[in-house]
Amino acid sequence: MIKIDDNANISPICSIGQVSLMDFPGKISLMLWVGSCNLKCGFCHNPTLTEGSTQRLTYETVLEAVEKATGRDWVNGVVISGGEPTIFTGLYRLITEIKKLKLAVKIDSNGTRPTVIKDIKNILDVKDYIALDYKIVSSEYNKLTGDIVGDRVLLSIDELRQSTIPYELRTTIIESIHTPEIFRQMMGEIKKQDKWVLQSFSNKHPLLKKEFQIIPPTSKEYLEELHKIAKNKGYNIGIRE
Ligand code: SF4
Repeated sequence: MIKIDDNANISPICSIGQVSLMDFPGKISLMLWVGSCNLKCGFCHNPTLTEGSTQRLTYETVLEAVEKATGRDWVNGVVISGGEPTIFTGLYRLITEIKKLKLAVKIDSNGTRPTVIKDIKNILDVKDYIALDYKIVSSEYNKLTGDIVGDRVLLSIDELRQSTIPYELRTTIIESIHTPEIFRQMMGEIKKQDKWVLQSFSNKHPLLKKEFQIIPPTSKEYLEELHKIAKNKGYNIGIRE
């Protein structure tokens, strides 16, 4: 799914979120959300994203909100999240316009469009950040996302390794799916220098697929067990609460 922006005034953004101290390491950031995604992850917390939001804001509206937040809330960064930002052709323009305001940009991506990751590397720099989902070992991607996209995600990760842009890989751990055996296979695809963050699966919110809704939340103990396995082998791994 690629969202061609046929109206030059319409940005990829469907809603402007809160100022956040948590979402962009070292920055006070304004959250911007895109309203569509090209995957259908069973554990997605925002099922409406996979249907695609009809609402899109103009560049003018988005940039005005960014400028206001900069003056008012000491914002020095913008997070573009979703949904999947890389499916929108307007992403390049949006990043360029935000960077003209001297703000750092973080992109949250599912990593399925390596050519876009390669292209946006040209407009991001060391002040910016990319957080890429690495959901499971590449051969098992279909089970979680409904699509055979693992190889594309690995290509995106390679693109990040060949850049100076700070990045992290994020994995939501589901105990019954990310078994120690699967986790060890994932370690085979991650390089020790990759910053890798584990986070717990939760079923508190409505999820896209019913079969995921009944899976128990991942315990802190299990997350720590996997963390220890990788840490002991020298991986640059952390846990996000
Ligand atoms: S979890 Fe992320 S990648 Fe998966 S469907 Fe939801 S928004 Fe898309």
